[in-house]
Amino acid sequence: MFELVFLGTSASAPSIRRGLPAAVVMHKEYRFLIDCGEGTQRQLLRSGLGFRRLDKILLTHGHLDHILGLAGLASTFSRWEMIDRMEIYGGRWALDRVEALMRVVFGNYRPPLRLVLHDLEPGMVLEDDSFQLLAFPVTHRGPGNFGFTFQEKARRPFLVEKAEALGVPAGPERTRLVRGHKVKLADGRTIQPDDVLGPPRPGSKFVFVGDAAQADDLVEAVQEADALVIEATYTTLEADVAREFGHLTARQAAELAAAAGVRYLILHHISRRYSEQEIVDEARPIFAETLVARDLDHFQIRRGAPLLQVERDGSERTVALGET
Ligand SMILES: [Zn+2]
Ligand SMILES: [Zn+2]
Repeated sequence: MFELVFLGTSASAPSIRRGLPAAVVMHKEYRFLIDCGEGTQRQLLRSGLGFRRLDKILLTHGHLDHILGLAGLASTFSRWEMIDRMEIYGGRWALDRVEALMRVVFGNYRPPLRLVLHDLEPGMVLEDDSFQLLAFPVTHRGPGNFGFTFQEKARRPFLVEKAEALGVPAGPERTRLVRGHKVKLADGRTIQPDDVLGPPRPGSKFVFVGDAAQADDLVEAVQEADALVIEATYTTLEADVAREFGHLTARQAAELAAAAGVRYLILHHISRRYSEQEIVDEARPIFAETLVARDLDHFQIRRGAPLLQVERDGSERTVALGET
């Protein structure tokens, strides 16, 4: 399961309702901040997430609306939050801009904390025994733009009834079998993992794309995601402007979702010129399971389950697509 909180959903400049791009993805002990537009700190506080454990930052690209909040965040981390390290993952050009930004803001001194910059390449970014974070290239203005795939590894379910029937006691023997090791029981019988594990079940897949000039080159990367987040800066009315500035229309995003067989499409990076309704009206006839993210929306994404929205009081409800 992945949790996703939108901090800012506007494109290029903020509006009264929408801040500049930033989102948090949570999974197990991980917390990733994706992009850090100006105003992100206040949104983190408003969301109730705060700054704790938020030292891993993924950048979709280096445009100013996605990185200008980083210097302020570095200052708060070091002065108020006792966080002495910030890890930033991005394309080379984005990282160069971040370094230049920090140099200007903090003068000739180094930033007040340790800045660890990871030069992204397509492929694996992080991995543990049950989770993978991958980066893939995205076409947008300038070089080194990336999207991110958050993927739970396939897991073989433990078949309790089978274990009971074979007389495997509850306890460490079962843990060993789940981890793929055989065990020897007290009566001398050997039980193999295959005896008590079912066929592999794919884990949740969640894909986050920031700004994109093209959608047809993303079909493979976003294939069968349980949820796809992608920009829809414009509608077809301004298809020529979208093309000129390297952005997508709501129609292009919806066509991608349909072609890739994703379960839910969540649109963000909305131009101030459009209402939520205008974006939805263009996308939904092409891909019905579409919604437009609002600042501070909090979602839970699970394989094979409906998308859940978490309310401020912690209660959960299935997202009702008719609401927007
Ligand atoms: Zn942008
Ligand atoms: Zn951009």
